Amino acid sequence: MKTLQDVDAQTIRHHVKAAGIVGAGGAGFPTHVKLQAQVDTFLVNAAECEPLLKVDQQLMARQAARLIRGLRYAMTATGASTGIIALKEKYCEAINALTPLLTEDIRLHILPDVYPAGDEVLTIWMATGRRVPPAALPVSVGVVVNNVQTVLNIARAVEQHYPVTRRTLTVNGAVETPLTVTVPIGTSLREVLALAGGATVPDPGFINGGPMMGSLIPSLDSPVTKTTGGLLVLPKTHSLIQRRLQDDKTVLALAKTVCEQCRLCTDLCPRHLIGHPLSPHLLVRAVNYQQTATPQILLSALTCSECNVCESVACPVGISPMRINRMLKRELRAQNQRYEGPLLAADEMAKHRMVPIKRLVARLGLNDWYHDAPFTETDYQPPQVTLLLRQHIGASATPCVKKGERVTRGQCVADVPEETLGAAIHASIDGIVSDITAQAITVIRG
Ligand code: SF4
Ligand code: SF4
Repeated sequence: MKTLQDVDAQTIRHHVKAAGIVGAGGAGFPTHVKLQAQVDTFLVNAAECEPLLKVDQQLMARQAARLIRGLRYAMTATGASTGIIALKEKYCEAINALTPLLTEDIRLHILPDVYPAGDEVLTIWMATGRRVPPAALPVSVGVVVNNVQTVLNIARAVEQHYPVTRRTLTVNGAVETPLTVTVPIGTSLREVLALAGGATVPDPGFINGGPMMGSLIPSLDSPVTKTTGGLLVLPKTHSLIQRRLQDDKTVLALAKTVCEQCRLCTDLCPRHLIGHPLSPHLLVRAVNYQQTATPQILLSALTCSECNVCESVACPVGISPMRINRMLKRELRAQNQRYEGPLLAADEMAKHRMVPIKRLVARLGLNDWYHDAPFTETDYQPPQVTLLLRQHIGASATPCVKKGERVTRGQCVADVPEETLGAAIHASIDGIVSDITAQAITVIRG
C-alpha cells in the first residue's frame, strides 16, 4: 500500500476516475471532476440528517482511519489546506474514533441535530460561516464537499486501486430486522429487502433513500446503484407513500384550491433563511395564476434544493411547493434558463428555524418505524447483478464487454470517452455477461 507522501494530485485524480467514483450521497457527480477544483477547504458532509438512514454514522466509527486518509487524498487533489468532517454530536462512536486521528489541519465540526443540516449549502454555512450564493457551487466560496462513502472510496481507489463495486445502505421502517448492510452494486432491492427479513406489513410501499428526499421505488427488481441511499419500507397507506403517488395534476389542483398564502413555506424554507431569494409561496401563487410573476421569481425555482421542508413540515393544508418547483425546473431547464440573483442577508433566526430531527420524525408519522438499523456483516453473493450504465450525472457509460464474455469482480465493463462527463462501471461479481441493453449490463454469477 502506498503511503500518503507518495501520491500527487494527478495520480489521485487518475485512480479516482479509473475506480468510477461518483458522489455517493447525491445525484452521482463524477468525483474526479470535483477533485480538479482548487480550493482552501475540503468538507466531508457526514450530517446524514435524513431520519432512518444510518450508513455514514456507522461507517465513520468503523473506518475512521480510512476516512481520514481519504480526506487527506482529497485535500492533496484540491490543494485544500483545511479538512473538515461535519457530523452530529449524537454520532458519539464516530466522534470517539475520529478524534484521536485528527491533525492540525483536519478538524471535526459538530452540527446541531436538525434538518436539513446535510444540505451542502447549509453544511458549509454551519461549518465555515461562508454562504454559497444562490445557484452557485460550493467551489465559489472555496469549498469542495463529498460525503462519507465517497471519501472512503477515494482512499480505496488510491491505495488499492479498488473500483466502486459495493454499496452500503440502510434498510429501515416496516421490516423484520432493520439493518445497515453492504452488497454488490447491481443486487436487486428485492434481495436487499430479504436480507432484512422482509416487510412486516401486508401492502408495503418502498422509498429509495430517506423519507424527506427519497423517491418512490416502482419495482423491487430495481438494482442497487452507486447512489442508492437506502431502502425505506412503509405501509402503502402511509402519507409519505401516498404523497409520492400523487401526479402533477393533483398537486397543481390542490395548490390552486387551498393555498391561503400564509407564507409558512417561505418562513421555514432553509435556502430562504440563509439569504437566497427563494420564496415558495410566491412560486405557488405564480403557478396558481398562470405564472403571473416576474421572470426572476419564476427562475428562483432553479435554486430549490428539494429538501421537502415546505411540503412535509411547513404547509398546513398539504400543498407541495417543492413538487411545483420541480415542475418549473423541468420547464426552465428545457429552455436552458439560468438563475442569477443576489445573496441577501441571512435571517437572524435561521439556525433556530431548522427542524429538530425528533420533531421531524413525529411530524412525518415515523415514530413506529424509526429503528437503529445496526451494521450487519454479510457476504451476500447475488446470483446475478444488473449494472445500470447511468449511475451518475453525465453521459451513459458505453459497454466495453460482449455478451457471453467472462468478467471478474472489479473489471471495467463500461466507460465514457476521455473528455466526456461520466463515470466507468465495473463488474461487482465474477461471472458471465448474459445481457447488454441500452440501459444495463447483466452478469450471471459463475
Ligand atoms: S404554506 Fe401552503 S398554504 Fe401557506 S403559502 Fe405555502 S403553499 Fe400556500
Ligand atoms: S423544497 Fe421547499 S423548503 Fe426546500 S428549498 Fe425548496 S422551496 Fe425551500
